[in-house]
Amino acid sequence: LTILGLESSCDDTGAAVVRARGDVPEILSSVVQGQTALHAAFGGVVPEIAARAHAERLDICVEQALGQAGVTLAGIDAIAVTAGPGLIGGVLSGVMCAKGLAAATGKPLIGVNHLAGHALTPRLTDGLEFPYLMLLASGGHCQFLAVRGVDDFTRLGGTIDDAPGEAFDKTAKLLALPQPGGPAVEAEAGKGDAKRFTFPRPLMDRPGCDMSFSGLKTALLRARDSIIAEKGGIPVQDRTDLCAGFQAAVRDVLAGKARRAIAAAPEGLSALAVAGGVAANRSIRAALQEVAAEAGLPFVAPPLRLCTDNAAMIAWAGLERFRLGHRDDMTLAARPRWPLDRTSPALLGTGK
Ligand code: ATP
Ligand code: FE
Repeated sequence: LTILGLESSCDDTGAAVVRARGDVPEILSSVVQGQTALHAAFGGVVPEIAARAHAERLDICVEQALGQAGVTLAGIDAIAVTAGPGLIGGVLSGVMCAKGLAAATGKPLIGVNHLAGHALTPRLTDGLEFPYLMLLASGGHCQFLAVRGVDDFTRLGGTIDDAPGEAFDKTAKLLALPQPGGPAVEAEAGKGDAKRFTFPRPLMDRPGCDMSFSGLKTALLRARDSIIAEKGGIPVQDRTDLCAGFQAAVRDVLAGKARRAIAAAPEGLSALAVAGGVAANRSIRAALQEVAAEAGLPFVAPPLRLCTDNAAMIAWAGLERFRLGHRDDMTLAARPRWPLDRTSPALLGTGK
């Protein structure tokens, strides 16, 4: 089985070819074109610019992905595409491109939930068996998912405000560090004293797996401003200590809530897995690994290029759906919102 996958839900345009021989998957190619430079001057992703860039680049990415995989469209069994959630213009660009390819080749079309792509990645990289626990922590998302099947996800909890990657990015901004903030703050934190400034551990005093990260940003802003008021600027050591304190707080919340999510998850978990850019953070990874070890679970963190947005995960999720007989047609819709969990409050009452 050979599947072409397309991804365009945020600011990365991706195309990839994934093949499965029996149960053994192989990524034949995975092309990702980022748009950081296009949005840099605006301090965030501009949806209009992103949509146009996706529309311009998807064809090229597809060509490159097919070329690198050494296959032609004729050798593809189906075309998988992110159909949501995400910035609607980008999602539409991908869905239109996939529909065009499907119409031109007569190949089946498979709509994939972007979050399912992230959540199923550990099956592509490590062959994980269901059920497993997934922490998805990125610039746009943060949630614990019990993954029971290709189409069976239970959300155990998540952030009630900002995503942790967003908090890292805002922290970097407040401290005049470069974007994306995660790597910059991590590098500073490694040199700092995490105990000098105390940050809250939001919602840790409450039961459940929900998290909150916007308060951390406010705490950081206050600490920064009082340093500036006192010293007229932020000395280098104060900045590294602020980063260390902030990172420790995010780490403790993610690890503490992961412990609870394991307790709340179905019996027989095969692993604790992570995805999303925040999973690149070594200190956070180490803490999660410890939580998994305490529970006697393997810890699975796919390589970073498969943790952040990419089309290989979409091709893989498409392949899994294809194997189960899922097919979409030309009525496939692009959806800005698409919760994974069918019991999610966002879906209740919408009739979907
Ligand atoms: P989504 O895919 O959920 O729509 P996104 O595209 O922003 O959101 P990713 O590409 O998975 O998400 O991750 C990017 C985020 O990860 C950024 O917010 C970035 O700051 C954060 N990040 C990257 N590296 C690190 C790190 N070492 N430590 C902490 N955060 C990091
Ligand atoms: Fe993503």
